[in-house]
Amino acid sequence: MSRIFSGIQPTGELHIGNWLGAVRNWVELQHQHDSIYCVVDLHAITGAASASTLATRTRDMAVSLLASGIDPARAILFVQSHVPEHARLQWLLTSVTPLGELERMTQFKDKAQRLESIPAGLLCYPILQAADILLYLADMVPVGEDQVQHLELTREIARRWNAEYAPGVGYLPEPQPLLTPARRILGLDGQAKMSKSLGNTVGLLEAPEAIWQKLRPAMTDPARKTRKDPGNPDVCNIYTLHQHFSPEPVQQEVAAQCRSAGWGCLDCKKVLAGNMESHLGPIRGRAAELRQSPGQVEDLLATGAARASRIARETIAEVEHRMGFLPAKGD
Ligand code: ATP
Ligand code: MG
Repeated sequence: MSRIFSGIQPTGELHIGNWLGAVRNWVELQHQHDSIYCVVDLHAITGAASASTLATRTRDMAVSLLASGIDPARAILFVQSHVPEHARLQWLLTSVTPLGELERMTQFKDKAQRLESIPAGLLCYPILQAADILLYLADMVPVGEDQVQHLELTREIARRWNAEYAPGVGYLPEPQPLLTPARRILGLDGQAKMSKSLGNTVGLLEAPEAIWQKLRPAMTDPARKTRKDPGNPDVCNIYTLHQHFSPEPVQQEVAAQCRSAGWGCLDCKKVLAGNMESHLGPIRGRAAELRQSPGQVEDLLATGAARASRIARETIAEVEHRMGFLPAKGD
């Protein structure tokens, strides 16, 4: 059975872009593959400082993932910093990672331009991501489109490490991305990718009234200046969301009503809000229940970390052996 690994940063609330692009796929895949999912808190410290919120956001992210349907009886769910081998493998992989490749990563360039002082961690982010995946010898990584470039680099790191330390053996796999049809959801301004750190998100657990306050002013086809102007659903971000939340016949109705100006944009958004709620309502309900028992969530994460550690320790032992380190006495 192939193994999949994926992670999400506790940099804010789980949003519909994360859910449509990655997490919904995680839930499906856990039924078919050996699945390992991680709240990547070590990645989260490469952005703005967040000591006062990191622990809470990490727990909240775990709650959101469980509420979305990640089943700890099927998948391993844990917090990255609870398994120290992630940071250890990252360091080992720095030795085969070309600096020039790190500097040309789009995510690095995007995030760096928003910072006054650029921490080295932001540059090294993809090496930690490679370590996350390779530590579990995962073959497949369900992610959004923004992570495809990082996965290319993960494959290059694996290739270079194999060439140097496991020639002819190919110990580290070269993992492939698994994308959903919703590989890149835009923020409601219709401009940038929806991102926790850009503050342009619709939270998966947000109350319907709060979601409506965001949907109401959201960008639609600019050609629809007045209620009577017909529009083109293919260029409308609200229609894109219909394609992911509304049943097929509703999508067709929406497209027809937009093209004929039968509905105004607000009518169209109301239908979307209703269909979003039928997906998100049950998730919000499960999250509320989980929040009642934080101890249970922490126990689940501890069990997940123990299961992940068993695999991680084996990989580190093999990697260090092949790299020629002197084992500590007793190892
Ligand atoms: P940050 O702004 O802190 O980077 P983020 O919203 O980009 O947060 P990540 O934790 O970096 O979220 O990514 C988690 C997963 O969600 C990744 O697989 C990523 O590819 C996917 N993802 C993130 N944003 C989107 C989006 N707008 N559309 C589709 N998938 C997305
Ligand atoms: Mg991101």
